Amino acid sequence: IVQYKNIRKSFGDVEVLKGINLDIMPGEKVALIGPSGSGKTTIIRLLMTLEQPTGGIIEVNGENLWLMQNKKNELVEADDKHLRKIRGDIGMVFQHFNLFPHMTILENCMLAPTIVKKKDKADVKKTALEMLDKVGLSDKVDLYPSQLSGGQKQRVAMARALMMRPKVMLFDEVTSALDPELVGEVLEVIRDLAKAGDMAMILVTHEMDFALDIADRVLFLNEGTIEEEGHPTEILVNPKSERLKDFLTRFT
Ligand code: ATP
Repeated sequence: IVQYKNIRKSFGDVEVLKGINLDIMPGEKVALIGPSGSGKTTIIRLLMTLEQPTGGIIEVNGENLWLMQNKKNELVEADDKHLRKIRGDIGMVFQHFNLFPHMTILENCMLAPTIVKKKDKADVKKTALEMLDKVGLSDKVDLYPSQLSGGQKQRVAMARALMMRPKVMLFDEVTSALDPELVGEVLEVIRDLAKAGDMAMILVTHEMDFALDIADRVLFLNEGTIEEEGHPTEILVNPKSERLKDFLTRFT
């Protein structure tokens, strides 16, 4: 469903991604691990079109993210409509929750579908209540973000991303800003979503046990390249490269 083809990304003189090739199947759960600064966040920000690659292409459902065909069948730079259409299939949850403080939980979830997609308010509300139920927050819908714990806020962010019924969900270190006792409840929701099935997921995570449990594939990123990839037990239990071994000892 998502293909990275020889993706490169530089910030100024620094090349942070040095030719990433990655093919994600529909419904596949991929965990991205690696040292700080190895480029994990950049990989998912590119797919969210928050950054543009310096080289290579990304395709979603076979469609190039940055180029499209015009009426004369010429390849031209993608316009907003093209980007919006592709982005509609992709949801993202950030390390910091990015909720609107002046809106209730329910309003936060309803905002994008009503404003951006101009959907019927009653239908959107029904979906929002359903999604908030999925993340275990049915009793909090009329509260404001400041009235929730970090773990609850992160679950709202997930419900909000689910509103668009994405085919791919991106999770960027979603537990790293949380107090340790709140991590479990957030991982539990992701685990339920993963087990429920057909949504592909890319998870940047430092929770190795969690990756072992839910991922179909683990990628070890080091200095902008995928240094090792494979089945979670292969990567996390029987790592080959010294660098991966060394990295893992710091997390156990
Ligand atoms: P972490 O685990 O610490 O979040 P990461 O593997 O996610 O790290 P990235 O956030 O992708 O790493 O960053 C990779 C490198 O790119 C880092 O050295 C970072 O400083 C640099 N970088 C990221 N975004 C920018 C930017 N907008 N401008 C300049 N440099 C950037």
